Amino acid sequence: MTDLTNLGVKAIRDGVASGDFTAREVAEAFNANVAAAAELNAFIVTTPDHALAAADAADAKRAKGEDLGAMGGVPIGMKDLFATNGVQTTAASHILEGFTPHYESTVSQNLWDAGAGMLGKLNLDQFAMGSSNETSYFGNVASPWRKEGTNAPMSPGGSSGGSSSAVSARLAPAATGTDTGGSIRQPAAFTGICGIKPTYGRCSRWGVVAFASSLDQAGPMARSVEDCAIMLGAMAGFDPKDATSLKADVPDWEAGLSADLSGKKVGIPREYRMEGTDQAILDSWEQGKEWLRDAGAEIVDISLPHTKYALPAYYIIAPAEASSNLARYDGVRYGLRDLPDGAGLQDMYAETRAAGFGDEVKRRILIGTYVLSAGFYDAYYNQAQKVRALVARDFDQAWAECDLILAPTTPTASFPLESLNEDPLTMYLNDVFAVPASLAGLPAMSVPATLNPDGLPLGLQLVGKAFDEQSVLNAGLAIQQRAGFHHAPEKWW
Ligand code: GLN
Repeated sequence: MTDLTNLGVKAIRDGVASGDFTAREVAEAFNANVAAAAELNAFIVTTPDHALAAADAADAKRAKGEDLGAMGGVPIGMKDLFATNGVQTTAASHILEGFTPHYESTVSQNLWDAGAGMLGKLNLDQFAMGSSNETSYFGNVASPWRKEGTNAPMSPGGSSGGSSSAVSARLAPAATGTDTGGSIRQPAAFTGICGIKPTYGRCSRWGVVAFASSLDQAGPMARSVEDCAIMLGAMAGFDPKDATSLKADVPDWEAGLSADLSGKKVGIPREYRMEGTDQAILDSWEQGKEWLRDAGAEIVDISLPHTKYALPAYYIIAPAEASSNLARYDGVRYGLRDLPDGAGLQDMYAETRAAGFGDEVKRRILIGTYVLSAGFYDAYYNQAQKVRALVARDFDQAWAECDLILAPTTPTASFPLESLNEDPLTMYLNDVFAVPASLAGLPAMSVPATLNPDGLPLGLQLVGKAFDEQSVLNAGLAIQQRAGFHHAPEKWW
């Protein structure tokens, strides 16, 4: 029998439905890969029994001739930012260590309702703050990829680095991610997989640990565009429990897939030709244009004039919202409580937060509190909100000239772990191409394009109009078919 762990979502779902193998065999095979990959540190906790129970339920349904659901028999990894009933949920932080929710996030519940099971909770940057998966309280995640000729552990990207590492290493056919300013797309690009952040509001944020509420969006990470389309369909949908959830039907993105881009115009934003971008990335961008042209699209030059202000605005808005969201971790309601002998309430807050948050999270809280403080609110926070509106307007104006935008996902390929963490500004630059679509709330996807001369994956990014995930997925499919990216990391773990 073929190695079941090389199969993706669609192949597993269809294979289980047609009886080529059982869901239990699939879950056992992935559970074994997860157990054998401790060196990657992709999981904070593993939940093999959850995967087996869902698999047995799928097999039982099949025996009775019932519909298995869009994700029937597919075991997945769950980013540890989603609350999971009875399973520790930490956001990779010490302050939430030991926190076991009594409820299930809407997105994870949707996935279980569609027939999926859970292999475990995936490691991430603490509170989803980071671009390298080095800010987790539970240790760095290693990418399964290595730079040719070296053994240095590489970054799987962040913050969804446990997700990207697990999916590219065949520990899971797919995983959930969240993207506030690139955290699905950048790790997908670093590890040679696909990931889509849908339109803001498509996926409920209810039960997802909040980082920056006006930006946070969940989305799927998988090894093919088809698998992303299937899984996004299962995750998305209106949720009355999330006031920012979109009251819109979820299209059947899988059925709508087509790599024929005739009549579509794809914009190439000139401001994305930035200094410091690797030549191999610029070359793959050129190649991407050719692929889309070959698929029938017309390529047009466009301008997004406020691009260079997007990243600074993001690094004001996101920390501002984070400082407010993270105020709830006070030692009273959740997780850690540090109450020194004879201490009062204020001491408990201070001790708990000092012990419970990592350095990057503290940096964000300090920046956020500063930009929201009385004397600086107008100079920073209000100004950043105005810039955000201008960035969104750039896209609105671009849609007069094109239907989609093609750009690199990141300015560089993956880098060795610990090579950038003394330098937060360079680390923040990772998201320079990802953040504008986040500020504008637009759907955006990364699709693997090629390997660079060091043998590391590079991704191309597609940004679409609000609600038009279909065009993004379709252009992704056109690239996937032409790129023929079938590389897998060589197993060393
Ligand atoms: N890397 C970005 C940050 O650190 C984005 C994170 C994210 O999208 N969650 O804020």
